[in-house]
Amino acid sequence: MNTTQRPRVIIVGAGFGGLYAAQTLAGTEVDALLIDRQNYHTFTPLLYQVATCALDPSDIAYPIRQIFAKKRNVRVLMGLVDGIDSEARTVSVQLADRRVDEPYDYLIVAAGSVTNYFGNDTVERLSLPLKELDDAIVLRNHILQQFEKAASSTDEAERRALTTLVVVGGGPTGIETAGALHELYNYVLNNDFPELGRAQVILVEAVDRLLLPYPAKLQSSALDQLRSLGVQVYLNIAVDDVGEGYVRLADGQEIATHTLVWAAGTKGAPAAQLLDLPLQRGGRVPVRPTMEVIDRERIYVVGDMAYLEDANGNPYPMLIPVAKQEGKLAARNILRRIDGQAEETFAYHDRGIMATIGRSRAVAWIFNRVPLTGYIAWVAWLFLHLLWLLGFRNRLSVLINWVWNYATYDRSVRLILPASRRSVGSPSPLKAASETAEEPG
Ligand SMILES: Cc1cc2nc3c(=O)[nH]c(=O)nc-3n(C[C@H](O)[C@H](O)[C@H](O)COP(=O)(O)OP(=O)(O)OC[C@H]3O[C@@H](n4cnc5c(N)ncnc54)[C@H](O)[C@@H]3O)c2cc1C
Repeated sequence: MNTTQRPRVIIVGAGFGGLYAAQTLAGTEVDALLIDRQNYHTFTPLLYQVATCALDPSDIAYPIRQIFAKKRNVRVLMGLVDGIDSEARTVSVQLADRRVDEPYDYLIVAAGSVTNYFGNDTVERLSLPLKELDDAIVLRNHILQQFEKAASSTDEAERRALTTLVVVGGGPTGIETAGALHELYNYVLNNDFPELGRAQVILVEAVDRLLLPYPAKLQSSALDQLRSLGVQVYLNIAVDDVGEGYVRLADGQEIATHTLVWAAGTKGAPAAQLLDLPLQRGGRVPVRPTMEVIDRERIYVVGDMAYLEDANGNPYPMLIPVAKQEGKLAARNILRRIDGQAEETFAYHDRGIMATIGRSRAVAWIFNRVPLTGYIAWVAWLFLHLLWLLGFRNRLSVLINWVWNYATYDRSVRLILPASRRSVGSPSPLKAASETAEEPG
């Protein structure tokens, strides 16, 4: 135990698993330290709306320190965890200006997942992922820039390529992004760029269905709704090759495009490797039903990074409710252990799944029993996502944006804001450029 006598619990990651673990520990007799490489928590289900100019990044992100401002036993630290010593019970954290080693009595790792390119470096280099807030801003900038380039091009084939977009992956992220991009292109940007005509959005999925975990009726409804919107859907065909300006499919068809959104897979975050254990499928860490890591005493892993099988032998999916419930359970089990009680095992309360496809279009499988499609599913999706957002300000802002977007077909966040290349202490790029410029005369 550490010198303060109170057990010290470190939580790595303030996503859904880590946040709910920390909230469970708040106000208890432990000292908790919540570490994240970012200073905000991201509401991932609405990332695609930031990427498609419907919402501002601050609408879906919430400062971590604000969440725990009044929780005296939860400290927040912004830094990248890049080492775990399970013998010495410390984690190494890279802060902005130095490194620190933080001791723990119990550790919860909830570092999430990253985009899986399945080892294809070219896809990784040339495609745009949608996993984090940064990705959404990069994608938004990229799309708007393609339209600006197309508007100044006189080459018809080049214009077509610049306004054609390929999304790979028929899961919820792929279909939501494809639907929203189609609406952005054909209802909003076509007003800004009337000379460009209609743009094309193509969704490519390697298997013969969209939304794999959904019942067949909802899978075909999702397909119909996407097609009725105007998205071209290619099923049962894989991407064979990607290069500058094209995507080639397995049947040899080449699509001229400068925009490839990769939503075809995820794998456990690199932090999984810090535990120095053989990993399970998808780079996930094998855990017991108590969420403690097999062969790593006092270390719990939750959320996307954790590999735990359900009664049918399938791993629990990478979903928010799973991460939340696992995070709470790991924290409760640590408290039970400290109190000398037996730990509980994971029992997933599954309330169903839903995905939106665009304005008035969605599919939902409520409690995995009641299938909903179209407008009702869309309203249910809107209502529940508004409810799940953190913070009143964010809810209000999102609601106002949604009402505005629905009523006007407008997307107010159409700004190209590339990341600044200058930070405090580094010379201003403008100053540097002026210093290297030749003196006149
Ligand atoms: C675009 C998109 C849409 C989605 N939509 C839905 C949806 O509609 N419904 C649903 O149920 N699920 C959805 N998901 C999945 C859902 O986001 C994840 O299942 C969930 O976020 C997993 O929670 P987590 O705590 O494991 O990881 P995350 O929420 O990803 O959090 C991980 C945290 O760890 C931090 N971190 C990572 N590595 C380190 C490190 N080395 N040091 C310090 N900090 C670190 C990250 O900054 C991050 O804050 C979506 C995901 C994406 C990408």
